Amino acid sequence: MTWFLFRSPSWFFVTGFFIAACTHPVATPTDETGFRASPATWVVHDTTWTENIRRTNAEWKSLLSAAQYRITREHGTEPPFSHPYNKVHEKGIFYCADCENPLFASETKFESGTGWPSFWKPYHRRSVKLTEDRSLGMVREEVSCARCGAHLGHVFDDGPAPTGLRYCMNGLSLKFQKEMLTTKLEKAVFAQGCFWCVEEIFESLKGVKDVVSGYAGGAEPNPTYEEVGSGNTTHAESVEVTYDPSVISYSQLLKVFFHAGDPTQVNGQGPDWGTQYRSIIFYKNTAQKSQIESYMQQLTASGKFKKPLSVQLLPEMPFYKAESYHQDYVRQHSDNPYVINVSIPRYRNAIRHFPELLRHVP
Ligand SMILES: [Zn+2]
Repeated sequence: MTWFLFRSPSWFFVTGFFIAACTHPVATPTDETGFRASPATWVVHDTTWTENIRRTNAEWKSLLSAAQYRITREHGTEPPFSHPYNKVHEKGIFYCADCENPLFASETKFESGTGWPSFWKPYHRRSVKLTEDRSLGMVREEVSCARCGAHLGHVFDDGPAPTGLRYCMNGLSLKFQKEMLTTKLEKAVFAQGCFWCVEEIFESLKGVKDVVSGYAGGAEPNPTYEEVGSGNTTHAESVEVTYDPSVISYSQLLKVFFHAGDPTQVNGQGPDWGTQYRSIIFYKNTAQKSQIESYMQQLTASGKFKKPLSVQLLPEMPFYKAESYHQDYVRQHSDNPYVINVSIPRYRNAIRHFPELLRHVP
């Protein structure tokens, strides 16, 4: 009996108990969580490079401390070794104290020994502007904020490689912000029988941001549930897991996978039979493939399973999101007989193996 028949709108007698199969209820608009991976990147709050800021002296005076005003608006110089930014070596960005224009990245900061924060390159070629300064009987290049005109310091040609420049800045003209990284989320795709069940199991894990039910492993583009469920495609019901690797590792996801069902069952899972219910792990690269193979060897050597593991390893392939009514199916249909008799027992049996990975204590 195929899973497709199993979920057709009628009653079937299966393995000794009655299960009222699903009648494909009206779609619930819960398929989009709006959650998307963000690349790890600098968070720069203000790059409106061309939007110059012009204020009167009275306005700047009302906004700045007296010391800042003296430095940035009256071309002052702070005493050497007087500002704590001399000793800041954390990753981050130095902004203009007056207008928050990004001026220098910490990667370009170096120890000049002068007692002033020193950099060999501005954050962006449009961060600062240079003008000739003939004050104090010297010819120097003054560095000011390209956005608001704040005096920052001077640039000299005795800096380190690769530019050979030393941007000698007043700490009072800067505002440091530590690096803020957004978490880089990863995706992993697994197939192990009914995606309703597998989705619910992976949804229970801490560090998992989203699980989407869909189809993968086959050649046919944009398959439907009916096509896959009937066994007429080369796809398998699958789930795409979006997770935060700083909270849950890929090896922990593998542990979950191998305890979420029976990884020895060939071309099926539980009461559902057919290649559309086969077990597959989709790997992203050869290192991940080796990791999976190594874990499978460990499991086999442990003698935990009485039969050989039957899990297909496939390189990353297109994942086709299933129809919206299949998303979060178990939660949306907790009174469905298949959910009651198959999904929930499977879920309860699975989570006993990894209580430490659960979002909530069961
Ligand atoms: Zn500025």
